[in-house]
Amino acid sequence: MSELYDVVVIGAGPAGYPAAIRAGQNKLKVACVDEWKNFDGTYAFGGTCLNAGCIPSKALLESSELYQRAKDEFSLHGIKIGDLKLDLATMQKRRASIVKTMTGGITALFKANGVVGYQGHGCLLPGNKVLVTGADGAEKTLAAKHVVLASGSVPVRLRNVPHDGKYIVDSWNALEFDAVPARLGVIGAGVIGLELGSVWRRLGSEVTVLEAMEQFLPIADGAIAKEAQRHFKKQGLDIKLGAKVSSATVLAEAVDVVYADAQGEHKLQVDKLVVAVGRRPFTEGLLAEGTGVRLDERGFIQVDEHCSTGVPNVWAVGDVVRGPMLAHKGKEEGVMVADLISGHFAEVNYKVIPSVIYTAPEIAWVGQTEEQVKASGRPYKVGTFPFSASGRARAMEATQGLAKIVSAKDDDEVLGIHVIGPMAGELIAEAVLAMEYSASTEDIQRTIHAHPTLSEAIHEAALAVDKKAIDGINR
Ligand code: FAD
Ligand code: NAD
Repeated sequence: MSELYDVVVIGAGPAGYPAAIRAGQNKLKVACVDEWKNFDGTYAFGGTCLNAGCIPSKALLESSELYQRAKDEFSLHGIKIGDLKLDLATMQKRRASIVKTMTGGITALFKANGVVGYQGHGCLLPGNKVLVTGADGAEKTLAAKHVVLASGSVPVRLRNVPHDGKYIVDSWNALEFDAVPARLGVIGAGVIGLELGSVWRRLGSEVTVLEAMEQFLPIADGAIAKEAQRHFKKQGLDIKLGAKVSSATVLAEAVDVVYADAQGEHKLQVDKLVVAVGRRPFTEGLLAEGTGVRLDERGFIQVDEHCSTGVPNVWAVGDVVRGPMLAHKGKEEGVMVADLISGHFAEVNYKVIPSVIYTAPEIAWVGQTEEQVKASGRPYKVGTFPFSASGRARAMEATQGLAKIVSAKDDDEVLGIHVIGPMAGELIAEAVLAMEYSASTEDIQRTIHAHPTLSEAIHEAALAVDKKAIDGINR
């Protein structure tokens, strides 16, 4: 006899574990199955985000930024440090301990919410059953009224750049280097390339980023991308655009990379090469024959706007389905599905999902870029405010960047808010809330912002939309 659950979730990443927790909160009988194993062979809940993504990368971004500020900025504050030394082993120990605490936290949350956690492989069988295979090969079948697929994603590999995990590596390996590579190559100037490139640049690597596209950061607003490119160049990130890599070969503890751009063919030698060219949905061994769950041509599980696969009571959420591969997007989908299963109202507003790139300056946005609004044909107006005019940013020695608001000319609706500057990832929450409530620019203009705060930059950018900025020059 198989054990009967109301809900079985496959995958305990940031999409799966919130689905399980919310289902538990809704008094359903829930199990969550996850097969993630760390390099030391131990199982851990939390998926890519907690073990090899969001959390460890932010830990290293924070540590490396402090190191770089201690080196280059503290003296400006009148703080003199003698012989500054990098202790990478301690930095990495801290990163690992944060990950351990956070992943252990999920076990505690499962317990508190009555979720039964299984560590092993889950495979959906026809008829809403899930076959769980443990580390020892023991099999157990769980019957479920509802199954939520949250199997996530894995890095894309390049055929002509053979991954070996030591010299040619992915983002997970690049978070766990035990020495600073003197020369680091990164393929892909996307979110991972910029974040991890920044980490190792700050810690002393000479970093070259090879990006196939001619345009830098096309997902961001054009003005923000231009500003970002300027700062990254100043920081020493050598970003080569329009660079097509034809081969990478490991020879004598180094990687020889051959790439071509508009100027012709080039050779680059690095000590480590990180491939960060995107991620792909992961469904290997997830679906037995005859489940009826369909994949699209790119391998994503097909779902509707409520994350239903179309197979009765089978749902899919997170990186394994369409939409941005972001932890918070997956979390909202997981929670939505658990609430829908429980008969509650739930939806995800896909138009208002924030994006953050945790570089310095940080980059964050929500809604449409100016280019997208322009292409839509809707008349619009723009307001910007530079952090160089912010008292708080001056006090923080963080005057780089700007806040920008794009609003509709007809009814003043806020269409997009874009920030590059200090704590942009925190500032964007106000923008998300404003857009969630369909705010007008005037709503933000009339909202009192504490002084002196970084958030005044959003206020002033809103005022600038109507040429009413007080602390900035209206253009
Ligand atoms: P995952 O986190 O990939 O989790 C899926 C889980 O399911 C895994 O544990 C996997 O082992 C398990 N699984 C898969 N198949 C099975 C099976 N058949 N049986 C049992 N278990 C299975 N996003 C952000 O929003 N902010 C960030 O700052 C950020 N930083 C990132 C940094 C890096 C370096 C990387 C790589 C990613 C980052 N991301 C970030 C993206 C984020 O990690 C993903 O969007 C998020 O983890 C997706 O969540 P998920 O639950 O869908 O999948
Ligand atoms: P990405 O899509 O952000 O960037 C990949 C980059 O690689 C693109 O600029 C692309 O043009 C380039 N590229 C693709 N093929 C190439 C090739 N052959 N040669 C050179 N360049 C090539 O992907 P990523 O940086 O790998 O990140 C994967 C996912 O993880 C993203 O979807 C992202 O949303 C998520 N992530 C999010 C955060 C965050 O929210 N802060 C951080 C890291 C990762």
